[in-house]
Amino acid sequence: MKAEAIKSELVDILVTKEQMEARLAEIAAEIDRDYADKDLLLVGVLKGAIMVMADLSRAITLPISMDWMAVSSYGAGTKSSGVVRILKDLDTDLQGRHVLIVEDIIDTGLTLAWLKRNLEARGAASVKIMTALRKPDAAKVEVEVAYVGFDIPNDFVIGYGLDYAEKYRNLDVVGVLSPSVYADK
Ligand code: 5GP
Ligand code: MG
Ligand code: MG
Repeated sequence: MKAEAIKSELVDILVTKEQMEARLAEIAAEIDRDYADKDLLLVGVLKGAIMVMADLSRAITLPISMDWMAVSSYGAGTKSSGVVRILKDLDTDLQGRHVLIVEDIIDTGLTLAWLKRNLEARGAASVKIMTALRKPDAAKVEVEVAYVGFDIPNDFVIGYGLDYAEKYRNLDVVGVLSPSVYADK
């Protein structure tokens, strides 16, 4: 879905499709170098990371593996609760594996801090983090992020995998949703 299709519902476009693709190509080149002699497992966090996983993984030239987890931290609302539940676990045994968690966005960082500890406890050789987007509050949490696509302001964003009430994930830009959309609810 193109931004033009929902123009009246968007206040701003923070990252275009072209900007995201160009940045992910840079990050993929870094990953190619950093994991050249390692067997890398990308762990995507459903559902938001589907787009970044698809684009990043195809820009990496190494023969990597992929697996998926689904966790819930937000419930139905727009605030992080800090309570993380595993909705779908990995199929892969992490013993001795080099893991790169692939995320759509880090807001409070609560979900990710929990996830990193959880994966490390399974005996992974290394657990690092890649995120397409990062908000200012993420700096308050002591979780090291190895690769960041874009630092963005503290707005609720949609598109490129990110939803509002399960919609707009297929929007091909990262945009700020108009408050009028929330007001209807
Ligand atoms: P955190 O635990 O870092 O606060 O939040 C992590 C998760 O909350 C993200 O993976 C994402 O699913 C959701 N989230 C955080 N900020 C936003 C946002 O601006 N828009 C949307 N759609 N989801 C967000
Ligand atoms: Mg996420
Ligand atoms: Mg969501």
